[in-house]
Amino acid sequence: MAKNTKKDKKPSRFGLLNSISIVILVLFLLTSIFSYVAEQNSASSTIALSELVHDIGMGKVATITVKGDDLVAEYADKTVKMSKKEMDSSITETFTRYGLTPEKLNAVKMNVEGPSGVLFWIVQFAPFIILIIFLGLLIWFFTRQVRGAGMQAFSFGQSKARIILPDDKKQKVTFKDVAGAKEAKQELSEIVDFLKNPKKFLEIGAVIPKGILLMGAPGTGKTLLARAVAGEAGVAFFAISGSEFVEMFVGVGASRVRDLFGMAKQAAPAIIFVDEIDAVGRVRGAGVGGGNDEREQTLNQILVEMDGFEPNEKVIVMAATNRPDVLDPALLRPGRFDRRVTIDLPDRNDREDILKIHSAKKPFGEDVVLRVIAERTPGFSGADLYSLMNEGAILAARENRTKISQYDLIRAIEKVMLGPERKSHLLSKKEKEITAYHEAGHALVASVLPYADPVHKISIISRGRAAGYTLHLPLEDRKMQSKKEFLDDIAVSLGGYVVEKMMFQDVTTGPSNDLQVSTALARDMVTKYGMSEKIGVLALESNGGRAMFGKGIEEKEYSEKISADVDSEVARIMDEGYKKAEHIVTTHKAALDAIAKRLIEVENIEREEYETIIMAHGIQPKKKLDIEHQA
Ligand code: ADP
Ligand code: MG
Ligand code: ZN
Repeated sequence: MAKNTKKDKKPSRFGLLNSISIVILVLFLLTSIFSYVAEQNSASSTIALSELVHDIGMGKVATITVKGDDLVAEYADKTVKMSKKEMDSSITETFTRYGLTPEKLNAVKMNVEGPSGVLFWIVQFAPFIILIIFLGLLIWFFTRQVRGAGMQAFSFGQSKARIILPDDKKQKVTFKDVAGAKEAKQELSEIVDFLKNPKKFLEIGAVIPKGILLMGAPGTGKTLLARAVAGEAGVAFFAISGSEFVEMFVGVGASRVRDLFGMAKQAAPAIIFVDEIDAVGRVRGAGVGGGNDEREQTLNQILVEMDGFEPNEKVIVMAATNRPDVLDPALLRPGRFDRRVTIDLPDRNDREDILKIHSAKKPFGEDVVLRVIAERTPGFSGADLYSLMNEGAILAARENRTKISQYDLIRAIEKVMLGPERKSHLLSKKEKEITAYHEAGHALVASVLPYADPVHKISIISRGRAAGYTLHLPLEDRKMQSKKEFLDDIAVSLGGYVVEKMMFQDVTTGPSNDLQVSTALARDMVTKYGMSEKIGVLALESNGGRAMFGKGIEEKEYSEKISADVDSEVARIMDEGYKKAEHIVTTHKAALDAIAKRLIEVENIEREEYETIIMAHGIQPKKKLDIEHQA
């Protein structure tokens, strides 16, 4: 899901545009001054040399001034004309060659001026001067604007760390800005305590952890928490991302690490935050293909620096990753990142709190109940909730309302979850019918099967890549899923496919994603979760999956025979799901038709209306109590 852009970046981008336009303006002014001066200089008309010779012959010319190759002729009638003599020959030579007699020449007063005169030099060098001024201005504006954004840019080889100093009120983040994540905050408050009051710990002989690894899905607030620790403790915060070490110049990663640690030690007490440490901290010596030296050196340097900490050095390294499984074990050794803090996706209460934090300064209508939004967003990360709030505000603003309504937020959920509606993507009549039946199939199977999630909404307006969608959300957040739930989920996924086949005696490319998802789920049941009787309790694959970069290309851990058994088990599970779905849609054909018809009419069916339709056909909608026993 798209990550929200940081709010504090906007003004600086604006500033950049601003300074570029100033530079362009100055350049424009200089060029016009230059061309004005140049024009002044050549205001008089220019004539051919032969014409000048002719005029001298006629005795019309009073004086001639020679500047380099330029000739300025002043006529008896006071007009001034310019010409050029031949290069590398003297003026008398030139005129004589053109056939002027010495008497005629003597009648003209000759001034020879060296190529001097302030104007001359200005005109000669103006382009260079303008260029230099332009470059100077450009550099000046860039450095100024980079500093303005509270960052410090260092050149080649030096650390590119962003630094937040403790007295920077604008960028200060505290634990109050982080909702939920209670355990993580508790763990980290110990670190805050140490940074605030190191003496207390050191006197009693306690060794403070050097490294803390924050682990959690993208957008769960790892970066935010790290900043909050620095903010709470009031210490300097040096942040760099793992990919920045490697990004530009080979051989520089290690020296960046050195610079970064050097700076942090000077500023101690301080926190060094290495975001996305998996970019440098993957298992060494096993990547696919070349180009790993850089990463290895960078990682080694990090380890060396951490080992080199004096026990009373008040610098703590925090790192974040969403792939702890691929990290090099050397990073996790005692004395390095031996403290590990896991940040989970927020549960319902946490989601409500996060929504509250991000609703500050947003005007809400009376109908807004954040609790309902929190209920409808299982699986959303903090970052998703942040963008949900933002999308809601955008929807309200686009429709020229001054307050955000509940409906805006509900639409924003779908937008964040599935991407924007593609209203322009019009379905033909036939496509619309197929899509409606397809989605009705998913919904109906979900409503009949006891362990499937209840249906919240059905739509045949395409979003992202999907032609239509059925939104079914769990009633509760869940950490575990059971075999029965998986089996029902597979049947629900196949519902669309089954209906297409039944109604149209044909299948479209529409359900291909459904098939992929359900097949993958069936395979995981067999190989990861021990949910197949035939294979038994073997976990054939670990959670990291095979052939991740971590371990290179791994051998299959099991025999051909088992491999064939796995395939047949997956096929059996899929087949059972198919039969289950087929049975449901044939027995409840009337309900299926009713849902599909209504969908073709209105394109969106919300939960209440949907439940009325199925109840009219004798299907009881799910209530919370129905599935309480699963937990
Ligand atoms: P991560 O580093 O884990 O990918 P971030 O810390 O960058 O996630 O979070 C992105 C944004 O999401 C934050 O800037 C914040 O606005 C929002 N966010 C995430 N988690 C929380 C939370 N627990 N409380 C409040 N806001 C959060
Ligand atoms: Mg982050
Ligand atoms: Zn489908």
